[in-house]
Amino acid sequence: MSPAATTVAWEPVIGLEIHAQLRTATKIFCGCAARFGAAPNHDVCPVCLGLPGALPVLNGHAVDLAISAALALGCTVHEQSIFARKNYFYPDLPKGYQISQYDRPLATGGSVMVEAGGATRAIRLTRIHMEEDAGKSVHDGFADSDRRTYVDYNRAGVPLIEIVSEPELRTPTEAAHFFETVRALLVWIGANDGNMEEGSLRCDANVSVRRGSDAPFGTKVEVKNLNSFRYLQKALEYEITRQIDAVSHGERVVQETRLFDSALGRTFAMRSKEEAHDYRYFPEPDLPPVLVPEARRARVGAAMPELPEARRARFVRDYALPDYDAGVLTEQRGLADYFEAVAAAAANPKAASNWVMGEVLRTLKVRETAIDAVGISPAALGGLIRLVDAGTISSTVAKAVFEQMYGTGRDAAAIVAEHGLAQVSDDGALGTLVADVLTRHADTAAQYRGGRKQAFGFLVGEAMKASDGKADPKRLSQLLRAALDG
Ligand code: ADP
Ligand code: ZN
Ligand code: MG
Repeated sequence: MSPAATTVAWEPVIGLEIHAQLRTATKIFCGCAARFGAAPNHDVCPVCLGLPGALPVLNGHAVDLAISAALALGCTVHEQSIFARKNYFYPDLPKGYQISQYDRPLATGGSVMVEAGGATRAIRLTRIHMEEDAGKSVHDGFADSDRRTYVDYNRAGVPLIEIVSEPELRTPTEAAHFFETVRALLVWIGANDGNMEEGSLRCDANVSVRRGSDAPFGTKVEVKNLNSFRYLQKALEYEITRQIDAVSHGERVVQETRLFDSALGRTFAMRSKEEAHDYRYFPEPDLPPVLVPEARRARVGAAMPELPEARRARFVRDYALPDYDAGVLTEQRGLADYFEAVAAAAANPKAASNWVMGEVLRTLKVRETAIDAVGISPAALGGLIRLVDAGTISSTVAKAVFEQMYGTGRDAAAIVAEHGLAQVSDDGALGTLVADVLTRHADTAAQYRGGRKQAFGFLVGEAMKASDGKADPKRLSQLLRAALDG
């Protein structure tokens, strides 16, 4: 080994294949419900069970959702794409083949912006194709599970898109960010429900290692079916260490498919990876080509919501928000909608942003609630912000009022009136507070007058406390200083 070779670090190379269920009511080629949680083998029919003579009919809504995903990811959507049969035998695949797309996918190209280590990089996409999901083998939960495996075909025929990235990811963290960004975007446009525990979104991670960024790619391993960002990251970390360890000891990485055991935090060989030609792909004879003429692409594009990146830029531009705020507020579409409604009601975008990013997000987190079920209307929160801006209440009091408004549908002004929370700013009442604090803390006042200027803060704090936080702090300070210095 040359001295250079021993000092060059191993570089991981990662490419992801993300499977996302499209949010349709029915399956991709039949009228069966595409839902989660039905009794096993309830949502099935001759088409999705692959019974002889049954013919598939393409779900147009699934195609529109796939087109919207492709447009959101900046892909080129092809005017014509072709379904193909991917032939393999597995008990959860009733037809003996999966209807997928092969050499003529729905879309190619596109990219995802990934932030990692403070820098943002575009990770290019290879393609997006449509396919049907397979059923599910059930290995446990039955009295005879030690001897038998059962199959549930409810998922067979559920519409999926597969998003394939180029091998351009370099770290497990970057791969997790890529997956997170794709999930957020698909959920934002309504193409996917983002429910990873229910299997709506999962990914296969391809990974290899090489000696430095100029070396040719090494042999890759595919880790199948990762359904959480953490598992993706853990599986990649384990696999990278395993591969580096192998090649450093002069062994070769075997091209294979592996599974991640989340309990053990390890990957295990599943089966050696079939070469693509083993699937004997051929065009699906029972389905015509998928046609996406310009008019259809334009219709789908026009119906799409403003995308997160564009909205983030608009928040900075139109509301003069810091980029940080704009980024947080556009993490979910519902949150961005809510913020805009609050900003309008409050007529103060920065205050609206502070409240939404602060109290609102904090409360949602504590109560484990989604933004769609937030317990305070934009109009009500706007009203609260207006009271602060008008000087009627202090921001400390406003937080307490917020607590009382949340989940009760009550109005800020009513709570302020009922509990007498309005800010005290008339000189008479404030003067009494000042006189009182100077009497109670005569020694501290004397120290201040003797030159210990930092005693001032203590006196203001005591006077504020005596007012239950209702005194106007600015005017109070002025009056207190005048009394001490005068
Ligand atoms: P296959 O023919 O095995 O399906 P592809 O070339 O179609 O392989 O790539 C599948 C996925 O594997 C893609 O996401 C791609 O980015 C990734 N990939 C390809 N080669 C490598 C490699 N050497 N290391 C890591 N990932 C890779
Ligand atoms: Zn069916
Ligand atoms: Mg491939």
